[in-house]
Amino acid sequence: MSNKPANNIQDLQYFGEFGGVNPSISDSATYTFLHAKTMLDTFEGHAEGCYLYSRHTSPSNLYLSEALAAMEFTETANVAASGMGAITSVFLQVCGAGDHIVSSRTIYGGSYAFLKNFAPKLNITTSFVDITSLEKVEAAITSSTKMIYCEAISNPLLEVANISELSKIAKKHNILLVVDNTFSPLIISPQKLGADVTVHSLTKFINGTNDTVGGVVCGTQEFINSLRNVNDGAAMLLGPVMDSLRAASVLKNLRTLHIRIKKHSENALYLAEYFEKDGLKVVYPGLKSHKDHELFKTMYNKEYGFGGIMTVDVGTLEKANELMELMQHDNLGYLAVSLGFYKTLFSAPGTSTSSEIPEEEQKEMGLSNGIIRFSIGLDNDIERTYRAMRKCMKQVGVL
Ligand code: PLP
Repeated sequence: MSNKPANNIQDLQYFGEFGGVNPSISDSATYTFLHAKTMLDTFEGHAEGCYLYSRHTSPSNLYLSEALAAMEFTETANVAASGMGAITSVFLQVCGAGDHIVSSRTIYGGSYAFLKNFAPKLNITTSFVDITSLEKVEAAITSSTKMIYCEAISNPLLEVANISELSKIAKKHNILLVVDNTFSPLIISPQKLGADVTVHSLTKFINGTNDTVGGVVCGTQEFINSLRNVNDGAAMLLGPVMDSLRAASVLKNLRTLHIRIKKHSENALYLAEYFEKDGLKVVYPGLKSHKDHELFKTMYNKEYGFGGIMTVDVGTLEKANELMELMQHDNLGYLAVSLGFYKTLFSAPGTSTSSEIPEEEQKEMGLSNGIIRFSIGLDNDIERTYRAMRKCMKQVGVL
């Protein structure tokens, strides 16, 4: 395995059933066995290379899983029907009644809502902490804690988790460090920094075409086997399975991820630098003014830059809405949630993707109503985009 995650994806060789350059798509929910004994062995997890039933796994899903494992430097991976399908499977695999999670307080609203509102129904509790304070993280760990959970770059505040230090804390307390790397595929390799499990929403940069939702859990063979176990595996029993046709399609898009990420990062850095110079309140890990800029530089795979997400605080929700509507009108992107698309996407997280987080807590973590989250697109001429966006900002009085 090379040290470069994109090389690892590129070096995988595929020969379809008829010698095709793409693997054949497995269009079956169930699989035949020549001998009854092999079926029993497969149920018990002992028949390498045999397929049982597509909720368990399918050849197409395994191809995609292996490519994502190669990208994340993990032994293996398991794809899921959505990012939430992947993330919640991990929570429920690792934790049972009475267990506890220490989670970053700035995470995707859905993950937050699951831990805050759903997991307590199963008597799984969570302490939400400022993940950038290692003291607070460690102080929140109790004898019931099973995992530290964070996003490598957090949604939407773009805080950077110090994965190496968090991993030392996790190891010291014999608990898992689980990292959501959705905002920084290829850019950050959590496993290399000591994470135990890496999860992604494939819906975003990795697939990149906004035509499906998808997710993945990357980890050790032992952990992934436990997720898929027919008797007590969360992925197997909750059933958030990705369809084979989709897995084949996501795999094809994954192969251009390195080119796309470089362009997303290049464009985002350009806009972040210019808008900051113009006097706007810009948050972007590539800016020297970002409080975790130096930390980021110790963690990232430099050639992919600082990522495609930046935020601009325009003061009030009214201004944010006015600006987003105007930018959409002027064809500078779409007023839409999600990220990683060829077009720029923008939304006000306080009232959309983070609306699950109560207003008071939003305030405490510094999530103001005037923040616009931009997922910067693959614009060919970013200078032209800058000029047009600037015009909109002037028009609504933000500049
Ligand atoms: N993790 C992060 C950081 C996200 O931004 C999202 C979705 O916005 C998810 C997880 C959930 O992924 P999905 O929508 O594919 O279930």
